Amino acid sequence: MTYETIELLINGEWRKGDGGGEDIVNPANEQVIGYTPHASAAELDMSLEASVAGFETWRATPPIKRQAVMEKAARILEADVDRIAHNLTMEMGKPVGEAKLELGFAIDVLRWYGEEGKRAYGRIIPPRIPGARQMMVKEPVGVCSAFVAWNFPAVNVMRKVAGALGAGCSLILKPSEETPATAVAIGRAMQEAGLPDGVLNIVFGVPDTVSRHILGSYIPRKLSFTGSVPVGKHLQKLAADTLKRCTMELGGHSPVIVFDDSDIDKALDSIGSNKFRNAGQVCISPTRFYVQENVYSKFVDGFTERAKAVKVGDGLEEGTQMGPLIAARRLDVMEGFVADARDKGAEVTAGGARMGNQGFFWEPTVMKDVPDEARIMSEEPFGPVAPVQAFKTMDEVIEKSNGLSFGLASYVYTSDGAKAKTMGEQLNAGLVGVNHPFVSMPETPFGGVNESGYGSEGGIEGLDAFLRTKFVTETGV
Ligand code: NAD
Repeated sequence: MTYETIELLINGEWRKGDGGGEDIVNPANEQVIGYTPHASAAELDMSLEASVAGFETWRATPPIKRQAVMEKAARILEADVDRIAHNLTMEMGKPVGEAKLELGFAIDVLRWYGEEGKRAYGRIIPPRIPGARQMMVKEPVGVCSAFVAWNFPAVNVMRKVAGALGAGCSLILKPSEETPATAVAIGRAMQEAGLPDGVLNIVFGVPDTVSRHILGSYIPRKLSFTGSVPVGKHLQKLAADTLKRCTMELGGHSPVIVFDDSDIDKALDSIGSNKFRNAGQVCISPTRFYVQENVYSKFVDGFTERAKAVKVGDGLEEGTQMGPLIAARRLDVMEGFVADARDKGAEVTAGGARMGNQGFFWEPTVMKDVPDEARIMSEEPFGPVAPVQAFKTMDEVIEKSNGLSFGLASYVYTSDGAKAKTMGEQLNAGLVGVNHPFVSMPETPFGGVNESGYGSEGGIEGLDAFLRTKFVTETGV
């Protein structure tokens, strides 16, 4: 299978890009597999202009017709899953089975927003003025802009595309230059399904240059970003000058709290393998393991055994359970975390080093007795490294869990209903999973609190993020 030809999509036309470009590297073998063209400043202006015209057309298209286009695109993507998943694995590294699951999820998201767009209801409000008619109506926000990270090349992209399109908005999307093929495949499917020109525009470039250009314009009325906390803060500042609405889906540092009344083997089966999904490069990845002292050794031993059994390799090879990290820079980060934790007294019980010297592979790693002072207990690892620490009381573990500025996901394992209820109430997080880690679905709100960002993707809240509220009052008609 050949890798996708990467082009820019501007006003319904696929372009080679006038702004230079960069190689795309397969992280499993460091081979160059393609080239991401960059948009020139003139092309970015063209995308802004096109998105204005695209918005006018799309907002005037009845939601039932928008849904039909989105459904058709879903079917086109479904028929092409094997090819797209293969390319996704080549550019990003995750096992091809995971890539297929990701695409299935993204297609669900597309269908869900297409349907939900038909239900962007307003309401009639009883008037004070006799005979008046008072209406609250929901209308699309306008042209939207979105910047997304590389870790979920399908889902990160689709949450923006489907949310905007379902609500009747147009979109300028900048996917990751490192993982562009999936976004391009989504763009081609949308076009084939009959999406009018200019409704979806896809550009690539030097991220800082593109985001300054697009956000510097008054045209986009919304910014939706998925990525790291520092970049999110930076983009929000850029958006402030023209007062764009923002949705910020940023990083996290998810505590996993394992109480001694839980079934440890079940907890390990549930959260242990989840840690190494996408090589830990997931914003809701479990990243700080707090285990009650009575079951601490049992948990560490079981986790260590499971980590050692994970089959690491090229995601295209049969049986691979964990692929490489996205790039060499992430290997350096893992090395730094492990060395620092060791220096501060932690013991590495599984992994702890790079694998081989070709491809960006890092061993599934478990570290026990990791003290709070170790950097990995407060900085997001975003890799396959799991620090474990023992705790004594519920109050202590709540304080530790809530002790960082992040607040995305939290996980609790207990068989005690009262504890589950207390933790659900007390944890400072946008998502809480009790006895299972599945906190993200198309129909449920997904998002963080505090420095993990704000605004939701998914659920009716996700559609609402692309809608604005208008009040209309009439008399004498
Ligand atoms: P990074 O912050 O450099 O890049 C993350 C993404 O943001 C990339 O896809 C990049 O293209 C984009 N980006 C960077 N600067 C930008 C700018 N000025 N304008 C627009 N887009 C910009 O980090 P990285 O080394 O690639 O990844 C590691 C860190 O990123 C982790 O610590 C993690 O917190 C974060 N991250 C978070 C998510 C998430 O889902 N929340 C996803 C990927 C990465």
